[in-house]
Amino acid sequence: MSKKSVNDKEMVMTGQYLGVVEEFLPDKHSTFVKDGEIFSTKIGITNIDKNKREIEVKPLQEDKRKVVKNGDLVIGTILFLRQYSIGISFYTINNKLHFNSAYMGNVHVSEISNKYVEKIQDVYKITDIIRAKVIGQESNEYKLSTSGKNLGVIHAECIICGTVLDKDGFNKLECPRCGNIEYRKLADDYRNVKDKLRF
Ligand SMILES: [Zn+2]
Repeated sequence: MSKKSVNDKEMVMTGQYLGVVEEFLPDKHSTFVKDGEIFSTKIGITNIDKNKREIEVKPLQEDKRKVVKNGDLVIGTILFLRQYSIGISFYTINNKLHFNSAYMGNVHVSEISNKYVEKIQDVYKITDIIRAKVIGQESNEYKLSTSGKNLGVIHAECIICGTVLDKDGFNKLECPRCGNIEYRKLADDYRNVKDKLRF
């Protein structure tokens, strides 16, 4: 009976066999040893140091958590509106959740839509959930754009009664409870979104 040892950069599950102690030096934090065999204590990606023969398992989330690149799609909640920009907090990057840290992003008024936007208050409201594209980075904040059919508001609540608004036209929303009419820069899949919105 011989089990197959894992390779470097292989995805492993909690409790999965990794190899034997003759082969690898097990990392205390991400592996355990039983009868000379090494097992993973977490879901993640193996990292094998070629020189020291050390093996560890790096958690998936942490591994990818800080990688935000231009062109990535993010989903977040609008925290504030300024005269020329909005601030959003996002936990979802390319449909993957990143629980451990909230990222901040800004959409400048010129990046909201390919149409001219005079007042930001006419197209976004605080607590809207929007999908945006990363177009740049400045220290801890990402520059975002919502110009594009798939970008913009994907979830909005009535400013009067808090009910989720129904789409009633290209940029028009109507509250099914109180009849309030509001306007947004909507994503084309508003209220028909497959991404996870809340966690
Ligand atoms: Zn309402």
